[in-house]
Amino acid sequence: MVYGNVLHALLQAALEQHDFSTQNLRFHTDRILIDNIESLYFLREELNTAGAYVESKVPLLQEWANIFISSKPNAKATVKDHRGKESPIIAINKLLDIEERIWSPLYGLKGNIDATVQAIVIEPKAGRSSSGSSEKTLTVPLELKTGRSEAMEHRAQTMLYTLLMSDRYDINVSGGLLYYLETNEMIRVPAIRNELRELIIKRNHVASFILSRESLPHMLQDPHACSRCYAKISCFVCHKLLEDGDANSSGVHETFQDETSHLNEKHKAFFKHWDTLLSKEEKDTVKLRRELWSMTSPEREAAGRCFGKLVIVPEFIAVDQSNPKINRYTYSFRKAAPPADFSFLESQINEGDPVVVSDEKGHIALAIGYVFQISKTEITLQVDRRLHNARRRQKDFDEESHQVFDGIELPATYQCEPHSSPHVTETILFRIDRDEFSNGMAKIRNNLIQLMSKEAGKHRRLIVDLETPEFKEHPAAYQLDCVSTLNEDQKRAINTVMSARDYALVLGMPGTGKTTTLSHIIRALVSQGKSVLLTSYTHTAVDNILLKMKDEKFGVLRLGNRSKVPLTPRKSIRPYRC
Ligand code: SF4
Repeated sequence: MVYGNVLHALLQAALEQHDFSTQNLRFHTDRILIDNIESLYFLREELNTAGAYVESKVPLLQEWANIFISSKPNAKATVKDHRGKESPIIAINKLLDIEERIWSPLYGLKGNIDATVQAIVIEPKAGRSSSGSSEKTLTVPLELKTGRSEAMEHRAQTMLYTLLMSDRYDINVSGGLLYYLETNEMIRVPAIRNELRELIIKRNHVASFILSRESLPHMLQDPHACSRCYAKISCFVCHKLLEDGDANSSGVHETFQDETSHLNEKHKAFFKHWDTLLSKEEKDTVKLRRELWSMTSPEREAAGRCFGKLVIVPEFIAVDQSNPKINRYTYSFRKAAPPADFSFLESQINEGDPVVVSDEKGHIALAIGYVFQISKTEITLQVDRRLHNARRRQKDFDEESHQVFDGIELPATYQCEPHSSPHVTETILFRIDRDEFSNGMAKIRNNLIQLMSKEAGKHRRLIVDLETPEFKEHPAAYQLDCVSTLNEDQKRAINTVMSARDYALVLGMPGTGKTTTLSHIIRALVSQGKSVLLTSYTHTAVDNILLKMKDEKFGVLRLGNRSKVPLTPRKSIRPYRC
């Protein structure tokens, strides 16, 4: 999985720069491995070993690029066709997007496409169209698979991506490409109507369970499939705790027993209780998110949760190349035709809020990000995706045979296209919606499931079984100046924390000095050479504590979105990184 992510990122970086040279691939390998250092650490994998493994795949990537990335297909660039048809040859001649995230309310699907590419496809003689032409330029999804074996789910995923892309690009996407790195094989996955229909029926079947939340689909009871399933822990835990299932009903006897025999009635009650609460909360937030496609922008704007009919201000587009993901692009928007009394300052959308950018034609979530600045006449966002020139058709575009769009471009500062540019010019109207569900419940629900897994023994005993935490007889030695300024309760709280073997809770009414006590606990822990993770429900609470320590010598690494962190702690705390 980790290596899969690294190789995906490597291919995407090389595609984006159109540079598969050894030097460039090495440069990105080093960078990407550092980005994945935590995952490698968990795998106990040394950087050198990881580097050597990734480097062993570089010749494969280069060979693939030599064959398939070109302005015209060459004879070697054949792709396998599953229907047993003669193989076409192709050339990928343009990159349209990387990790394109598409939400399609039309099909009830969403996905992230490894690469959206433009490809010239030359069919063998038998596949020629009635006009006799054998060459087409098509816009297609390209998926990289780092495993060796072809799998049905890869084909299903690629096929569903053709639906997503059809919805996003307003064209018929007739197929996708699957690239298997290990075998260096390219496969064409045609979008076959009947198969897509079956997949959508399956999707609707699963969605009906998620929506009702009353039950889950029956387990497959297939020992072979279940023992290899990536979701088996979650599936087994839910079967046992939500459905009162057992080894017999699971159909995978020993494996099920092995993963769930530690779970008892108390765990069941705890799990059901929190799962119900999460579902209730989820229902409310999902309802709000649905407004993105079920309400027009004027309707939602009237409720203060949206700005509609906006245009990008071209002079204020900026791309931060060093920022690979969120916040990469900065855009300012104005109302296309602002009413006389309009002000961006009068809504429920504030600086630092998470937002979703869509267009007024129903293309949802073209980018997500945060509000950076708001003035009366303009709103500036930092977002993760390119909005300018995206999905812009070129003049010789043809829906059937010449699906040509503008390619990816990453200028430091965007220059307006000259009037003579070969594009169909059209002003795109955008809408900005407050993202009511940016964090989602999936992570929280997954944490709940992981708490019930075999591996989480100690945490489960402390949190679910309420095992009494242990304390040392005396607190570990620590250094604190100005202890004299603390009252007895605060000193006792610090000593309790410094004696904890498991955890300690400090409770206090508002104004009793909890923030001060916490800042001293952090100082005491740092004096022992420890790193401290400070976390809270709100950014403000974290920053209030940090401000209490602004004169300390130790460094602070503030995690979180820059636009969420007020300027005061950023300026006051040194050294400080955000
Ligand atoms: S473990 Fe569960 S989710 Fe995975 S294949 Fe079996 S039944 Fe399906």
